[in-house]
Amino acid sequence: MRDLARWMNTNYMNFSIAAGFHELGTGAGMVSGNAIGNLPVRNWRDGQFDDAAMIQADVLRDSYGVAMEACPSCQIRCKKVVELENESYKVDRRNGGPEYETLAALGSLLGINDLAAICRANELCSLYSLDTISLGGTIAFAMECFEKGILTLKDTAGIDLRFGNADAMLKVIELIAQRQGIGDILADGSRAAARRIGRGAAELAMQVKGIEFGMHEPRLKQGLGLIYSIAAQGADHMAGAHDTFFMQEGRGMEPVRSLDSLDPLPADDLSTAKVDRVKNLHLLRNFSDSLVTCNFVPWTLRQQVDMLRALTGWDYTDFEALRQGERVATMARVFNLREGLTAADDQLPQRFFSPTPRGALKGTAIDPEAMKRAKRTFYILMGWDPITGVPTQEKLEQLGIAWAVAEAVPA
Ligand code: SF4
Repeated sequence: MRDLARWMNTNYMNFSIAAGFHELGTGAGMVSGNAIGNLPVRNWRDGQFDDAAMIQADVLRDSYGVAMEACPSCQIRCKKVVELENESYKVDRRNGGPEYETLAALGSLLGINDLAAICRANELCSLYSLDTISLGGTIAFAMECFEKGILTLKDTAGIDLRFGNADAMLKVIELIAQRQGIGDILADGSRAAARRIGRGAAELAMQVKGIEFGMHEPRLKQGLGLIYSIAAQGADHMAGAHDTFFMQEGRGMEPVRSLDSLDPLPADDLSTAKVDRVKNLHLLRNFSDSLVTCNFVPWTLRQQVDMLRALTGWDYTDFEALRQGERVATMARVFNLREGLTAADDQLPQRFFSPTPRGALKGTAIDPEAMKRAKRTFYILMGWDPITGVPTQEKLEQLGIAWAVAEAVPA
């Protein structure tokens, strides 16, 4: 274990992503993400954020950054520390700084370019234990409802909840945390809020299984779009593949070594080869999450298995690791089925099947038929029924969880 830790501490700078995180944490690629269409803008509607450069990690470091911090023993040290004094918004350095997901969820997704306000919103989320992704997705939903007249000044008690209004965002965060007024409606997320609001609001709730999207565009990363729709936990960007890593040969392909071929595949590809890769990376993520390793540290599957062997003495293999990841995915599937979810819940919002009006993805949408086929292929590769997505008895037996048959198919 010490050898592995020493190796990573010596070599992490050779991995461009980890080296970049050491310097700036996440969020260094707001402009480049905007240029390829990955950055979500105004509730995933607009496709291009003209102020992306104003909320980049280097601007944040130069304006308000005071240090980089680390989780225990990690040399990558990706965590930003910010401090704001004598600004419109004050932020205490003890409450951390915004990472990429927060810069996007409380920035471009809301049409907000005010870094100081984003830092303050991030601090409020730390203090109130609010997830910044779900919070940003829910406020973006509310802002679009407000723009369309589905919510009015009467509903918001006078808060001008339009896109770009940073003060309104901060007021609404307080109301959500205190469950007061409009905050009480929004506190359970966009899906629950849409059900209470009605009047067509559901169309504007960008969520799967009640979880708002990570800040990565599924019209660009279509394999991620597949996993957003199928993952048991909803639209989680950490549940699997980010297609843009696997478009060309090089170090970005490293995570798929020992999972499948090293053939590059386009980001919008939804062929069987891509679905197989998406599935395998989902299983790998499940295994890594079970180890409680950080996804930013570029461990290979082999290294993670070696860690497990070293720490437990188990004679574990790569095959068993992926089988364990498969068992996690299948048990989570069974859990959802028992709770009443069906294949119909494996569905992206309609918005992603239409192109954005501006930006790099102008004219690009997910083909609904291709996504439907990919979903069916995913089910088949997982040993689930191709139509219902229910794990087959044979698969449950193979995974050593035959007892779950009764849970998967309630009497
Ligand atoms: S463990 Fe992960 S999140 Fe923590 S400092 Fe290291 S890279 Fe960053």
